[in-house]
Amino acid sequence: MAERFITYFQCTVCKERNYYFSSNRKKEVKLELNKYCKKCKKHTLHKLVKA
Ligand SMILES: [Zn+2]
Repeated sequence: MAERFITYFQCTVCKERNYYFSSNRKKEVKLELNKYCKKCKKHTLHKLVKA
């Protein structure tokens, strides 16, 4: 059985966790994406974070 990781994209402006998803990959991925933040009400830079 592979380990499961919960990861999410966190807004770098307000630190709100906006996009959750689960991943069973062990490989570490560092991603920064421009995504819509409901708290900032605009597109901001989001960082991929492992929970
Ligand atoms: Zn935000």
